[in-house]
Amino acid sequence: MPGYELWGDEEKKHLNDVIESGILMRYNFESVRNNHWKAKEFEQAIQKRMKVNHVQLTSSGTTALLTALNAAGVGAGDEVILPTFTFVASFEAVLSVGAIPVLVDIDDTLTLDPLAVEKAISPRTKVIMPVHMCGAMADITKLKELAKKYNLLLIEDACQSFGGTYKGKYLGTIGDLGCFSFDFVKTITCGEGGAVLTNNDEYYLNSNQYTDHGHDHIGTNRGAENHPNLGLNYRISELNAAVGLAQFEKLDKILSVQRKNKKILKDALKEVEGVEFRRIPDETGDNASFLSIFLSTKELAKNVSQALNSKGIANAYWFDNNWHYIRKWDHLKLLKTLAPLYKEHKELLPNYANADYSRSDAIMSRTVTIPISLLWTDEKLTQKADIIKETVSKALAGK
Ligand SMILES: *Cc1c(COP(=O)(O)O)cnc(C)c1O
Repeated sequence: MPGYELWGDEEKKHLNDVIESGILMRYNFESVRNNHWKAKEFEQAIQKRMKVNHVQLTSSGTTALLTALNAAGVGAGDEVILPTFTFVASFEAVLSVGAIPVLVDIDDTLTLDPLAVEKAISPRTKVIMPVHMCGAMADITKLKELAKKYNLLLIEDACQSFGGTYKGKYLGTIGDLGCFSFDFVKTITCGEGGAVLTNNDEYYLNSNQYTDHGHDHIGTNRGAENHPNLGLNYRISELNAAVGLAQFEKLDKILSVQRKNKKILKDALKEVEGVEFRRIPDETGDNASFLSIFLSTKELAKNVSQALNSKGIANAYWFDNNWHYIRKWDHLKLLKTLAPLYKEHKELLPNYANADYSRSDAIMSRTVTIPISLLWTDEKLTQKADIIKETVSKALAGK
């Protein structure tokens, strides 16, 4: 699952370049930085590999989302359609720009159900925001068609799916804008960091300026730069970017190990009657950081999760999770903001507490997810596959 498992000399080497020069800032200081530009290099590496026109690094996945929304002019009163199964950052970002998170049901892809999306489109809708959860993609062809049909933006929250592809295209490069997170538990990490990807020159320029107080980055005298628009500071530091650059060099290894390990566990579970798998629109593009299974009932799923825990097999039962599923988002349902929201904003927000998410519940309550480690030896993996197969079979047989 996470790149932090592969921490090593490569990270230290890139970090040391920065430490030696002492220039921890990504911009300027040309004469004293020994020509080290870690953030810039990391951006270029992503851009080249993912065949996208522009990449802007940010301080986190959350600020990548905030940047993408601002860059595309999404704000006061605009509705953004997103799934009930995501990390809280997705709706936090939408709320923070004064927009309206419209949470709709997921389907067996564990991502946006295109039918639910179409039903939720209103005159205020401006964005469809698919979240490629747990390493794999949303039903992106259908969502792209909807965005086109209704003239909406498609902003991909690809924070959990770095390196994943759909029909040969990298996730995060398919929509108008795409966002990645490099926080500590993501596919690759910077410690903290994120990125906005786009093929649109204007959205890139906006992102580049917005993340640095509006600096236009023209010339080499920072103090003399112009500020075409207001911005904020969402810059990544050179130290974080250095770690990301080293991690990026390991991406092929990470993907191949995850895919190999996941396949072994999945093959073992295919032999267990009563286990179904998350639908993945393009299996070959799965980044394979997680294996998600469906059981036939909520009770069986809970039993399977508990049984796996008792055998030392880490797993997530999202239905009871505080951070990734709407059921426990009481702070959102009660709109517990520290500072007051504008009255108009509050009035436009849906009543999340009363909404019917039974279709999402029906899927989420039957889902168990096993994270895939990069550190399992072949021997350990065979052992795990056996334990998982036996434990799930027994739990399903009520033993
Ligand atoms: C991690 C994550 C984010 C936020 O990223 P941070 O870097 O932790 O701010 C946003 N969306 C999803 C789906 C995530 O998993």
